[in-house]
Amino acid sequence: MSFHPPERTLMGPGPSDVNPRITEALARPTIGHLDPEFIRLMDETRDLLQYAFQTENKLTLPISAPGSAGMEACFVNLIEPGDTVIVCQNGVFGGRMKENVERCGATAVMVEDDWGTTIDVDKLASTISENPQAKAIAFVHAETSTGVKSDAKTICRLANQAGMLSIMDTVTGLAGIDVSIDDWGVDAAYSGTQKCLSCVPGISPVTFSQRAQELIQNRSSKVQSWFLDMNLIMGYWGEGTQRAYHHTAPVNAIYALHEALTILQTEGLENSWARHQRNHNALKAGLEAMNLKLIVAENDRLPQLNAVAVPDGIDEAQVRSDLLNQFSLEIGAGLGALAGKVWRIGLMGYSSNPTNVRLCLQAFESALIAQGAKLPLGDAIAAANALYAA
Ligand SMILES: *Cc1c(COP(=O)(O)O)cnc(C)c1O
Repeated sequence: MSFHPPERTLMGPGPSDVNPRITEALARPTIGHLDPEFIRLMDETRDLLQYAFQTENKLTLPISAPGSAGMEACFVNLIEPGDTVIVCQNGVFGGRMKENVERCGATAVMVEDDWGTTIDVDKLASTISENPQAKAIAFVHAETSTGVKSDAKTICRLANQAGMLSIMDTVTGLAGIDVSIDDWGVDAAYSGTQKCLSCVPGISPVTFSQRAQELIQNRSSKVQSWFLDMNLIMGYWGEGTQRAYHHTAPVNAIYALHEALTILQTEGLENSWARHQRNHNALKAGLEAMNLKLIVAENDRLPQLNAVAVPDGIDEAQVRSDLLNQFSLEIGAGLGALAGKVWRIGLMGYSSNPTNVRLCLQAFESALIAQGAKLPLGDAIAAANALYAA
């Protein structure tokens, strides 16, 4: 029997709701991955990714695997056994960076900050001066596990001043907030399709600076991953019409990514960021009208990922299950240090719209009242509406 998924509204930490234009693109006929028309599509996709990342980097392409593979691609290509990498950790994904560094045979020097707070750049600066031998600084721009944005521009400036590479996770950042690869001087960055690009999961856009590309081409040891070796992938995704077969690109998923990026370019990066901010502001107003609080300090909040403190006396999991069963609405639970303490409400890409904000507020109101909370009916939506009307 065929599988027919339920219709959900996706307001968790990803995947986000997929724009129907993208699912329509996905269903177009499959062509060969070395067909001249597909090669033209690859070139256009690269140009569109350069737009999204705000970079002129030639080595900008989608890895044929999810965001975690983009992460791995950055580490295995740039880090060699014996290297030292400074890893900033203020949530789940910094911990995975540490894992990656160690599996490359390198040493991770950790700069740890509390979950829910931004990366402390002063602490990072002193770690840099204590470890001048470090080759790279790795950090998460948009920590999806906590809803925190870190100061990527300053972190990359510190890396550049120290002559170190910068490796940035912007899986949740791209298209939701400013990601300025060239302006900030980022050496390697990776993202994902299923967050603010609102595309189907399974592809990871990556970009490497000229300096990073040269380093990869002049490594003293082979990249331990054959599949993720950028020296080989360059021959497949690189310039010109001669493309060497490396693997079979997920042809239809690339149609989908191309459509997602076309939608982004048509809207415009700045407009996309402004839309994410506006819907965040409305959601926040509505949550506050129900006495719910965001855990992240105002200046460090990601508009696309809202971590909300679970009030005393409320069953966190029951709220999520009411949302899912009664409203077909998915939100995220807390991870790691925040498990059981927060809900994570995503407003990513196509999911970041006023209808979703109102649905989410209405669903929360209903779920909280079901657990005995005394809330004046309708206040949350009225607060959001006032924001939209302003
Ligand atoms: C989602 C996410 C990833 C992993 O992406 P997958 O596509 O799930 O592999 C990595 N880093 C961050 C910050 C994320 O939000």
